[in-house]
Amino acid sequence: MKKIQMVDLGGQYQKIKSEVNDSITEILESSAFINGPAVKEFQINLEKYLGVKHVIPCANGTDALQIAMMGLGLKPGDEVITADFTFASTVEVIALLGLTPVLVDVCPNLFTINVDIIEKAITPNTKAIVPVHLFGHCANMEVIMEIASKHDLFVIEDCAQSMGADYVFSNGSSVKSGNMGHVSATSFFPSKNLGCYGDGGAIFTNDDDLAHTIRGIVNHGMYKRYHHDVVGVNSRLDSIQAAVLNAKLPLLDAYNAARQLAARKYTEKLRGLDALILPAIRCNKENTSTSCNCHVFHQYTIRLVEGNRDELVAHLNSKGVPCGVYYPIPLHQQKAYSNDRYNEVDFTITNQLSKQVFSLPMHTELEDDQIEYIVDTIKGYLV
Ligand SMILES: *Cc1c(COP(=O)(O)O)cnc(C)c1O
Repeated sequence: MKKIQMVDLGGQYQKIKSEVNDSITEILESSAFINGPAVKEFQINLEKYLGVKHVIPCANGTDALQIAMMGLGLKPGDEVITADFTFASTVEVIALLGLTPVLVDVCPNLFTINVDIIEKAITPNTKAIVPVHLFGHCANMEVIMEIASKHDLFVIEDCAQSMGADYVFSNGSSVKSGNMGHVSATSFFPSKNLGCYGDGGAIFTNDDDLAHTIRGIVNHGMYKRYHHDVVGVNSRLDSIQAAVLNAKLPLLDAYNAARQLAARKYTEKLRGLDALILPAIRCNKENTSTSCNCHVFHQYTIRLVEGNRDELVAHLNSKGVPCGVYYPIPLHQQKAYSNDRYNEVDFTITNQLSKQVFSLPMHTELEDDQIEYIVDTIKGYLV
């Protein structure tokens, strides 16, 4: 059996090596390192793949979130609602812009923002909601968009973990994640479902005016060379990363299918253990929940509901099974983001999840004997 890794970028690279190397060499030969044709090509390829009108590439996913908020014209004092259980990027950029983050508890099964309590968090200062499509499953966007429209709020989708995921509406129609909010942000960090070989990110929107505004913001606020109309940033996807992404985008669906297959195998083999709650999928298409694209398994995250999670993780690690704990501390408990307005009772689920969750190795190169070994090691500890 090959050594088990949390993410096997090396194994994936070996299979696409000549194509990726050729596309990188092409950039090296052309010297078009910044804003070269590969970036424009990737922009168009991704627009086509997502079915979104505008893609604006940028330097990383954190910038993408920040620039999306700048593009919407959010101002200090504006409140932005987001999930308590996510990576810090989301809340970090809200705070950096002088906006006020308002954290909300999540759903126990899908780990995404609990739409039943969003309205309780809305005040006259609320301007936007940032649903995070955590671990590869979209938040309940249909309800979120209804709430946003009722209260006249912007919705910024955080698609960093959901590239290629579908969201199915109750009428059965579906779109790719990133197509529902007013603007969306994603990351091409190497371990994401669509990853490059360095940092990268993008903003998506179907709004022409917003796309124009954002194209200026990513380029020092310039709409005409050396005319700085707004305060902008320097946030570019470099050509080498764009070339890597052009080589990998056609493989994204196959990569996600490989993740889904590994997830199905985990679920089949781990089903029925009382101590574990396995990942759920919510799909509005009937009878397709086992084969739908509603979950693209950026992570395969399990809740250990009986026993000590840290002990289980240490046991697995000692047996050569790496595990991740995403995320061990809820954002409202982080020093940087704590706030007197928060009450522990309002974060029952996040508090519970941060103690219960662990994520199994998940990537495109998992082999059956590795999955078998991982499952046997978990079962060996539990039963
Ligand atoms: C990875 C990630 C980001 C940030 O992306 P970077 O490219 O690392 O800046 C933002 N939000 C979520 C949910 C992420 O997983």
